[in-house]
Amino acid sequence: MEFPFAESYKIKMVEPIKRTSIEERIKIIKEAKYNLFNIRSKHVFIDLLTDSGTGAMSHNQWSEMMLGDESYAGASSYYKMKNAIKTILGFEHFLPTHQGRAAENVLFSVLIKEGDLVPGNSHFDTTKGHIEIRKATAVDCTIDDANDTTKYHPFKGNVDINKLKKVFENNPVEKIPFIIVTITNNTSGGQPVSMQNIKEVKQIADKYKVKLVIDSARFAENAYFIKTREKAYENKSIKEIVKEIFSYADAMTMSSKKDAIVNMGGFIAMKDEKLFKEASVFNILFEGFITYGGMSGRDMNALAQGLDEATEFDYLETRIKQVEYLGNLLLEYGVPILEPIGGHAIFVDALKFLPNVSREEFPAQTLAIELFIEGGVRGVEIGAIMADRDPISRENRFPELELVRLAIPRRTYTNNHMQYVAATIKNVYDRRNDIKKGVKIVNEAPVLRHFTVELEKL
Ligand SMILES: *Cc1c(COP(=O)(O)O)cnc(C)c1O
Repeated sequence: MEFPFAESYKIKMVEPIKRTSIEERIKIIKEAKYNLFNIRSKHVFIDLLTDSGTGAMSHNQWSEMMLGDESYAGASSYYKMKNAIKTILGFEHFLPTHQGRAAENVLFSVLIKEGDLVPGNSHFDTTKGHIEIRKATAVDCTIDDANDTTKYHPFKGNVDINKLKKVFENNPVEKIPFIIVTITNNTSGGQPVSMQNIKEVKQIADKYKVKLVIDSARFAENAYFIKTREKAYENKSIKEIVKEIFSYADAMTMSSKKDAIVNMGGFIAMKDEKLFKEASVFNILFEGFITYGGMSGRDMNALAQGLDEATEFDYLETRIKQVEYLGNLLLEYGVPILEPIGGHAIFVDALKFLPNVSREEFPAQTLAIELFIEGGVRGVEIGAIMADRDPISRENRFPELELVRLAIPRRTYTNNHMQYVAATIKNVYDRRNDIKKGVKIVNEAPVLRHFTVELEKL
């Protein structure tokens, strides 16, 4: 008989998790003012709030932790990380930072000036924030298909080359310091970018002599999709694909909490020594001396090891197939989700799931609350609460989609946990017609309100 798919690792250390009762959870969520960020992790059974920094390290990573060199300058851990970045990613120079947004802060301090334009594919929110705080503009050039939640496109994260060309044709090139490509495209649902597309973007960058920067948080997952969906790469190893991706980039920023499978850390890597020297000044100012930059030696060691593990096919196959497994169960139950299934998360379409809850009553947040009450599963709203109010009119903004994101931590849960999550969602789906009322805001911050918002059930 055919073998079922089995994980490419076994478990050596476990962390107990506990289920609370429905009655307890009704009380807990009320006390948390219906904001899932206010719930203590011990009250969550399956935590799918984020895949950032929540992965499980391997025994090799833990043993690397013991070998960390905590010297201020010239630590062996720095050289271990430098070597991994050179051999796996192909960059000559790098700077450690405490996480991904710090890498953006340092690099953009060199590259961006007021009035600049930075075209790319659905910039991540911290990336956009670091562009806008410098009074520059992030220009979204993602392909239109990314907005269609059910249309199949193998590389829905792609940059629309015509939109990108227009940005260059309609603006002075001095105003465009670089193009940024995010792999996978987090904001559009963990959707990959094809090698072909990266090459075409690189041609435009070369034509106009601007840099290509890759926001690389999930670069390994992107390489897996290239291998399995782009014909020319089916016989290439993940490490070969990764090398080729970065051969087209002048620099990369990295949130190591994702595809380096560590709990904290980040870096910038670049080819040009001049850029490295310029960025070093800001790194020393914001992060720390260039051989540690906000990271401890042990964490740099674990990161170097994590880069090697994350670029192995077996690991990636287990990872992506687990996300797919959850997605396929939900599709089987008829639950509306974003398709095709992305690399790190499932996105439930709350407008289709809860048609009786009006947009003013925040259907995605309502659904996230119901999932917690039903099964102790924690997801996150990506909808009108997260979208904040319009800065000028102060009216609520209603984005095209109301989503609940279920992000899957790396190597952390089993497929039985995924079955449990799917059953939780199915149970809520079965009683969806009884859910007619949502929530209202009773207290909110002026920006990034979703983290601290206080709500009441209607
Ligand atoms: C997480 C992330 C970042 C920011 O990294 P942090 O480590 O959270 O600061 C930037 N870009 C992308 C695509 C990300 O997913």
